[in-house]
Amino acid sequence: MTRPDAHLGTVFDVVNPATGQVFAQSPQHSPADLDTVVARACTAWPQWRADPVGRTAAMLDAAAAVEAAGAELATVLTREQGKPLAESRAEVARVAARLRHFSGLAPKADRIRDGRAVHTELRWHSLGPVAAITPWNFPLQLASSKIAPALAAGSTVVLKPSPYTPLATALLEQVLGSVLPPGVFGVVTGREPLGSQLAGHPDIAHVTFTGSIATGRRVAMQAASGLKRVTLELGGNDAAIILDDADIDRIADTLFWSAFRNCGQVCMAVKRVYAPTRLYDDVVTALTHRAREVVVGDGLDETTQIGPINNARQLERVEHLVADGRAAGARVAAGGDRPDRPGYFFAPTILADVPGDCAVVTEEQFGPVLPVIRYSNLDDAVQAANATRFGLGGSVWGTDLDRAAAVADRLECGTAWINHHAELSLAQPFTGVKDSGVGVAGGEWGMYGNLRPMVIHRPESGA
Ligand code: NAD
Repeated sequence: MTRPDAHLGTVFDVVNPATGQVFAQSPQHSPADLDTVVARACTAWPQWRADPVGRTAAMLDAAAAVEAAGAELATVLTREQGKPLAESRAEVARVAARLRHFSGLAPKADRIRDGRAVHTELRWHSLGPVAAITPWNFPLQLASSKIAPALAAGSTVVLKPSPYTPLATALLEQVLGSVLPPGVFGVVTGREPLGSQLAGHPDIAHVTFTGSIATGRRVAMQAASGLKRVTLELGGNDAAIILDDADIDRIADTLFWSAFRNCGQVCMAVKRVYAPTRLYDDVVTALTHRAREVVVGDGLDETTQIGPINNARQLERVEHLVADGRAAGARVAAGGDRPDRPGYFFAPTILADVPGDCAVVTEEQFGPVLPVIRYSNLDDAVQAANATRFGLGGSVWGTDLDRAAAVADRLECGTAWINHHAELSLAQPFTGVKDSGVGVAGGEWGMYGNLRPMVIHRPESGA
């Protein structure tokens, strides 16, 4: 899509978190630009929703176009977000896979049978153009988690990425623009109040937002004035409960990377570990060993395993939470400070002997810091895991899988794993409970989130 012209001369800086230096600029779109992009989405919508066969073909082409541009997308993503190139490549691959998966989904009409002599048919219609708002931790993957189900539903999409990471998404717009009809997918970039203007735009029918709980509340209020449908995927503070029959050597790598992938900046990362007294020292030792050994560096360096935190504000927050934990009596078993180098780096940190009520346990740290809390009674651990307003994911780790699954069933969250964490299939529903979300994304549930049911009654036969 050609960018609207009205933003000319108005840009904002984009920083490489591995250096702390500005390396690019992105357009600060104005309300008039936003109107233009939304108007294009409205114009494209009737044709797009009327042509399911064309949609499937276009989405398959879109997946191929993403793969063809994969190397460039991954490099831009690493430069603005900080994650290791291998993770960026995996993120791009996931975008293509998601487009392909959803190209095979389409709303299905259904007959409702209730014993009456009428023919009652349930049909599904696209709600209309969708506003998608994404955070900075997985800019491309989360964009695709909104774009693919909406496109499959026959909706068009206007997306606003985080101002920390606008570049890969703008490149995605170019890539998809080469294969999708004009206006089907548009991107606007900029700092606030652009997101709030998009969420409240009168021509938008559905707002799908991923980000923090605080912003999610604002988005919901903004959308409420227009009585728009809202889907919110919000923060998490996932607990991992280690059972007393866990085999620590076997689970330690998976447990560690479930907390530290993408530098811990994952909504569904393990953010607190509850370990039984009998295994407590073994758990801390295994995690500490890995935190000290892992290679931290610029994501563009192929040997890097953990990159920097994405932005200075988040780095300050992580530092503050660690300092607060220390003051409350936590022991720093690994890391605990910033390495002596430019950029927003923080050493992978394991906090042991952490009081269960300090902020690094009760709040979402969203960084490379993992508190390990000791428990002596499993019921107490389950209660502590559930004692927050978060409810995104959780996991239970042990060798008796039935017992572990029974404990997982007691967790108040949308998805729970046994001996794993944050492993998601494209076909499954994704939802958070309590403050972690509203509505269901993922799989066909995600597509139906962009649709409205319509029922047609007619006599079974005759006039
Ligand atoms: P954020 O809430 O600060 O920002 C998210 C997006 O909202 C950005 O694009 C931002 O520019 C925009 N925004 C800011 N104010 C707005 C407003 N008033 N109206 C509309 N849009 C506005 O979140 P973040 O710091 O970018 O991301 C981190 C958070 O996202 C964490 O809490 C994390 O857990 C959460 N997250 C959740 C999921 C999930 O699927 N549940 C996935 C990834 C991240």
